[in-house]
Amino acid sequence: MRLLIMGAPGAGKGTQAVGIAAHYGVPAISTGDIFRSNVKNGTPLGKQVDAIMKAGNYVPDELTEQIVADRLDHPDAGAGFLLDGFPRTMHQVDALDDYLDKHGKALDAVICLDVEPEDLIARLIKRAEIEKRPDDNEETIRHRMDVYLESTRPLLDAYEGRGLLVKVDGNGSVEEVSTRIAAAVDSAVGH
Ligand code: AMP
Repeated sequence: MRLLIMGAPGAGKGTQAVGIAAHYGVPAISTGDIFRSNVKNGTPLGKQVDAIMKAGNYVPDELTEQIVADRLDHPDAGAGFLLDGFPRTMHQVDALDDYLDKHGKALDAVICLDVEPEDLIARLIKRAEIEKRPDDNEETIRHRMDVYLESTRPLLDAYEGRGLLVKVDGNGSVEEVSTRIAAAVDSAVGH
């Protein structure tokens, strides 16, 4: 199973990605987590992306694409994967297409978590209190939402045009949403 999970900041992508990936027996690959662990460990990559992330901006495409390609080359991603937080730009969509084409592979479905915009900001502010993520202050949250709407939301139309988009209501408990996602993906891929 080769899946993407998309949605606005705060829609619950990260939480759902872990459960859905386990359900299908594939690794959950989160570019945000990869960047955060590099920042935490003070690696050269971490030093490069720290300020960008704190400002709520996107890491440059080529850098992000290289990191994803390297991660997808790991044997554990050979039989499938769930990408969380990638692609975020049309350039990244093209890069992922090229990578998959070259390896004779294709996406099975693109999950889109739908949550009311007012709920999103509230969720993010709550997460900021709990997780203390440096990119979770209110100003950055609003900026990340704007960047998402401008750069990433249009990708949903592109995937919808390819018949890959599986829209799922992201409101409800973690369990409710994950059950909904699995049912929607199974019916979309004909399982
Ligand atoms: P996330 O955990 O997915 O919300 O990602 C946190 C931050 O990491 C984002 O706000 C970006 O700064 C950076 N990031 C994660 N994924 C990408 C991506 N695909 N392209 C560019 N920047 C990214």
